[in-house]
Amino acid sequence: MIVLVINAGSSSLKFQLYNMENEAVLAKGKVERIGMDSAILTYEPEGKQDIREVREILEHTTAIRRVLDMLAHPEFGVLKSVRDIQAVGHRVVHGGESFSSSVLVDDRVKQEIKRLFDLAPLHNPAHMLGIQAVETNMPGVPQAVVFDTAFHQTMPSAAYLYPIPMVLYKKHKIRRYGFHGTSHAYVSERAAAYLGRPIEELKLVTCHIGNGASCAAVLHGKSVDTSMGMTPLEGLMMGTRSGDIDPAIVPFAMSKEELTLSEVNSMLNKHSGLMAISGISSDMREVTQAMQDGDKNAALAFEMYEYRLRKCIGAYAAAMNGIDAIVFTAGVGENSAALRAAVCRNLTFLGLRLDEEANARRSQEDRMISTADSRVQVLVVPTNEELVIARDTYELILHSNPVQ
Ligand code: ADP
Repeated sequence: MIVLVINAGSSSLKFQLYNMENEAVLAKGKVERIGMDSAILTYEPEGKQDIREVREILEHTTAIRRVLDMLAHPEFGVLKSVRDIQAVGHRVVHGGESFSSSVLVDDRVKQEIKRLFDLAPLHNPAHMLGIQAVETNMPGVPQAVVFDTAFHQTMPSAAYLYPIPMVLYKKHKIRRYGFHGTSHAYVSERAAAYLGRPIEELKLVTCHIGNGASCAAVLHGKSVDTSMGMTPLEGLMMGTRSGDIDPAIVPFAMSKEELTLSEVNSMLNKHSGLMAISGISSDMREVTQAMQDGDKNAALAFEMYEYRLRKCIGAYAAAMNGIDAIVFTAGVGENSAALRAAVCRNLTFLGLRLDEEANARRSQEDRMISTADSRVQVLVVPTNEELVIARDTYELILHSNPVQ
């Protein structure tokens, strides 16, 4: 079965085409600057030359049409016909309390995703555009949706409720949802397989550290707590997001600096984190480089980033009454040996011993970076959210139509 995976943003659309017989990626790419006359399509077909074109793409429907044209192009394509695509899987950021697993798209599901626009105003409307664009271009092709929040729906109420008036939860569903769930679920399963132990026996802390960053406490295969909250702003210090701050800072800063709601929102989401403290970049590579070159602000940004992450791991050790393994993933988690080393060097009270040499080695494989006698294992597991979306979509289609 050929499955197309789509991650639609408000002005961008990423895609990967899978052959599910062997889970091979046939092609991948993205369309950026949708809505502009100079949108950019990047297309990487397996075994053929990559293509980059700049052209007018004003809406998602046109973007998908252009992607499909490429996939079935006589020269650059990887398919004989667009009709070879048997299903489409979409990433959807917010599933609220309505979805604890991936589902096939129908009218009810679409209604529900729309109802959740309030909770994810930047993301869910864009995902909906992606779903509609597929309906228009590929009528009758089944679609599935895979939610970033679904894995965290197992959190107990003590972890997901905020200590604020209950009416806010009852009326507006204000609570912790958590994000990056697809990644936390994937890397925790990979970690259990790597360790050769049933996931039902393990206490894991998974650290998805990319531009956005979150930790999850995964107890016996289920998420019991996670650092992102009602929105992806809570928790760890990130590239441009503040993570946890005293909530009273918001009205205080608004009044002192005469900020509007939208300005304070933008400050905390786009102008905080590594960017704000280093004054250099939101990119960990550049911050680390500047730190090594002696920049004090970069060193402070790195120290704060590491400290906040380490505190979260410590909190989850307490939440689960122990940890068997810590798993690092995503851009920073997979690539920054410096950050992993800084975190692990200060967790020796857990009996954790980092294998510095293994940590420094670069690899795309799942790997262990703790010593053989370490009481807590430390793993690096590259995440693959697209593959999970493709697998879930494939499984849903098989089960909905067993004769296929
Ligand atoms: P996103 O959250 O946008 O999916 P990624 O998971 O791709 O982001 O992570 C992107 C971040 O990974 C970059 O901002 C960069 O800071 C970091 N990163 C990538 N490669 C390295 C590296 N070699 N060393 C340190 N950080 C890196």
